[in-house]
Amino acid sequence: MSEQRATAVVIGAGHAGLAASHFLSGRSIDHLVLERGAVANSWRTERWDSLRLLTPNWQSRLPGLRYEGPDPDGYMTAGEVTGLIERFAVASRAPVRTGVTVTSVRGYRNGYRVTADGGAIDCRVVVIASGACNRPSVPGFADSVPGSVEQLTPFDYRDPAKLPDGGVLVVGASATGVQLAAEIQRSGRPVTLSVGEHVRLPRTYRGRDVLWWMDSSGVWDQRYDEVEDLTRARRLPSPQLVGTPERATLDLNALAALGVEMVGRWAAVRDGRALFSGGLRNMFSLADLKMNRLLGTFDEWALSSGRDAEVGPVERFEPTGVPASPRLQLDLRGGEIGAIVWATGFRPEYGWLDVPVVDAKGHLRHDGGVVDSPGLYALGLPVLRRRRSTFICGIEDDARAVTDHLAGYVSGRPVR
Ligand SMILES: Cc1cc2nc3c(=O)[nH]c(=O)nc-3n(C[C@H](O)[C@H](O)[C@H](O)COP(=O)(O)OP(=O)(O)OC[C@H]3O[C@@H](n4cnc5c(N)ncnc54)[C@H](O)[C@@H]3O)c2cc1C
Repeated sequence: MSEQRATAVVIGAGHAGLAASHFLSGRSIDHLVLERGAVANSWRTERWDSLRLLTPNWQSRLPGLRYEGPDPDGYMTAGEVTGLIERFAVASRAPVRTGVTVTSVRGYRNGYRVTADGGAIDCRVVVIASGACNRPSVPGFADSVPGSVEQLTPFDYRDPAKLPDGGVLVVGASATGVQLAAEIQRSGRPVTLSVGEHVRLPRTYRGRDVLWWMDSSGVWDQRYDEVEDLTRARRLPSPQLVGTPERATLDLNALAALGVEMVGRWAAVRDGRALFSGGLRNMFSLADLKMNRLLGTFDEWALSSGRDAEVGPVERFEPTGVPASPRLQLDLRGGEIGAIVWATGFRPEYGWLDVPVVDAKGHLRHDGGVVDSPGLYALGLPVLRRRRSTFICGIEDDARAVTDHLAGYVSGRPVR
């Protein structure tokens, strides 16, 4: 790729970048989509073997593409998601260049210069769709863990058989942590789960998938400028959900029933020992309280929208059981723990972005996807424009709105 020009460059060919391309094409804005791997790279290379979407098939909708298979209430495997995104790329004839890593984006003349292996592209606008989960977040004290314990992130973990012998300490009880804890425990290795702030949800509520409620009641439609504490909403951990054929709930009670041991939030490593915070009871009751509040919102919506008779009776679930005396420390040198799996979240990577729009915490400064530098846009970030933004089903509205703004900017007729 030598020196070139385009009106727009989209970085990343996941569903977000492809959705941007779909709407850019719809407005006849010439553009290129640059992708360091293949289309749907993260679903091909960064997911563990057993992963299924936690969102049901009917919810995996992309612009112009709806699920039409035989199992609308099922949950896709990572391979099936790759297939879906590939079909979307073909259907929208996205001008994707694969195997092209963007190494720099900087201001240039009236726009930006995007440098990628083999050359540079000068453009008016850039859409950053490089993903919100490029790197696992691992706390700094991981460096103090004794070398005898193997450390993995969800990017390295594939299946339990590849773990070393011994117990496994899974850190983090969001979607990734609870799913891996359950899988590893079922494989016969004893799991200790370190639990911090988490979002508890039942898989089904009053006979419907809980994400049907999120969708239908409008909770996921809440706009970013209506959210009370946006910074907090954008950092919220993913809900404790798993997509399985039996639609089972995977909360901490379910894990305890499997034999998983709960400990508090991992605070530090001292002399080869993991030190955990107390306060599990408070953390559990907070998650229970928030879940019940959300279920109450669903109930109110069902009544006020006249849908109450369509769904099952109101349900409330057992409070999360608190272990009698959770351990406050664990000797990592004693051989009890063979591996640690850090399920402590993910973060984006903007090392290539030479425009001063990244805050001290490594997040892009933007207003609903309009980045703090004229002509720079973002898609695919948590609560970008709505609560559903980070999910596949959230991209259509976001990409349309962001491309509308972009088109106005390019044509000199800005939209708000
Ligand atoms: C473990 C996990 C489970 C999830 N489960 C669900 C779920 O059940 N349902 C749901 O709706 N959502 C789910 N999500 C959220 C979301 O759908 C995914 O994160 C999805 O991959 C985001 O799509 P994206 O297009 O924004 O980013 P990505 O899919 O990450 O795409 C970004 C692309 O940019 C490329 N890229 C990055 N940097 C560069 C560069 N410098 N140069 C060129 N290319 C670059 C990457 O290779 C990648 O292909 C999950 C996320 C994770 C991490």
